[in-house]
Amino acid sequence: MRDRFTVGHVSVSPDHYIGGERVSSPTTFETRSPMDWSMLLGNISRGDADTAEQAVAAAEAAFPAWAALSPKERAAYMHRLADLIDEHKKDIATVECLDMAMLQESLELRLVPRGALNFRNYADLAVEHEERVWDSKGTHNRVIRMPAGPAVIITPWNAPFMLSTWKCAPALAAGNTVILKPAEWSPLSASVLADLIDKAGFPPGVFNIVQGLGSELGNHLVNDPRVKRISFTGSVPTARVIGRAAAENIVPFTAELGGKSCLLVFADADIDAAAKRAAGQFDDSGQVCMAGTRIIVEESVAAEFEALFHKYADQHVMGDSRDADTTMSAMIHPVHVDRVLGFIDRARANGDDIVRGGKLYKEGGLWVEPTLIKPKSNQSEVVQSEIFGPVLTFQTFKTEEEGVALANSTVYGLSGIIYTGSRERAERVGRAVRGGTVWVNTFLVRDLTAPFGGIGQSGLGREGGHYALEFHSDLKTLQILEGSTS
Ligand code: NAD
Repeated sequence: MRDRFTVGHVSVSPDHYIGGERVSSPTTFETRSPMDWSMLLGNISRGDADTAEQAVAAAEAAFPAWAALSPKERAAYMHRLADLIDEHKKDIATVECLDMAMLQESLELRLVPRGALNFRNYADLAVEHEERVWDSKGTHNRVIRMPAGPAVIITPWNAPFMLSTWKCAPALAAGNTVILKPAEWSPLSASVLADLIDKAGFPPGVFNIVQGLGSELGNHLVNDPRVKRISFTGSVPTARVIGRAAAENIVPFTAELGGKSCLLVFADADIDAAAKRAAGQFDDSGQVCMAGTRIIVEESVAAEFEALFHKYADQHVMGDSRDADTTMSAMIHPVHVDRVLGFIDRARANGDDIVRGGKLYKEGGLWVEPTLIKPKSNQSEVVQSEIFGPVLTFQTFKTEEEGVALANSTVYGLSGIIYTGSRERAERVGRAVRGGTVWVNTFLVRDLTAPFGGIGQSGLGREGGHYALEFHSDLKTLQILEGSTS
């Protein structure tokens, strides 16, 4: 076991959590703070084939007993974990803020409490989710939801705590054991979660957390034939690789992927609110899968909208995410900053018009200025590809049909934001815009019972509510001939 280290005021283990024990790997990888890249936070155990083997074996061994519990018995563990998350929300927020630069206040008030809610919500939902029972064709029928087995959960570096809890909770509630592999660029809040799982008293092996690189550890996990579910959130190229592994073992697989969502503004909308929302897409430096990164505005109000947009964008403060004044966090990693600047450089070379930003905020820092680009054409790379940074595009339309066509003109379909004052248009365009979730005059409001997922290259399957419980279950129809038993 390696020594724990301190992040802010919080003691963090660099090791995996397997079978209820901390387990080391022979080699490590570094995690640094995006707010000051010279700040080494810790050297983390770098999982490999042995780690995957141990974690899957532990999850497989723990599965029969966990699956045999009733949903209510499993819920008791999950509620205990949720209470502990609430109790330690400051610790989790401090660690995640230093590790991946999300705003401390938003973590403490919104995202970490949502992590606790994810466990409560799924604990209760599994209890309430009754078996379907009915009579037909002379038989008494029942749909039984059987736990499937060990589930591998693979998460991305953005919003790591919230997303990990969102994905692990339905697996546990459905009776599966879990192996969570967080992303290597933001591994620390998962390690704090492991401490809380231990405190909550989960049986050893039910909820395991392993650290390491996707191409090494992740690859071994998803290829293990003992794994019965793979739930992935991340990029399209990785989804293709994992999807092949899932196909090889015929394992159900969900993929929550990237997006290039529209922010479609009609002339009848509250233009000030729409412009403020558009500038708000720079929050978290645009590292949000659902961000409305393609601003598409009705031509008659485009000038008014643009002036207001710049007014709000000017108000952004780039800085330390622990400061209450900061509104734009640093980006996750120098490699990602280079990737985002590469998109901007290619846009320049392509003849797209960079109307604001486009450069590093300050040398050596990981902030890219809030950037707005008027593309030369709808085919420009900055319109068609997910950038995952503080880069928005600006296009205009004359008719509703033209606006919807632009909104639907990428390979993605994760979400969409529409601004209109007309209820009829909200219903009509809301149906027409391609996306798993479409918000009208608002953004990010979520009911956890609603389905969530993407269309096209934004994903496969749905999370949320009973959709995730069903994914994590093997469904059986039991039919008994009526009158044949007493
Ligand atoms: P990524 O695909 O590079 O990595 C995601 C995870 O997959 C990491 O844990 C990584 O280690 C792992 N991984 C990589 N290769 C693997 C392999 N061969 N086998 C197993 N695991 C492997 O994505 P990222 O850069 O961490 O995240 C950003 C992407 O995630 C963006 O595209 C963003 O839109 C998307 N995202 C989507 C949602 C959503 O809900 N739809 C939410 C957040 C982020």
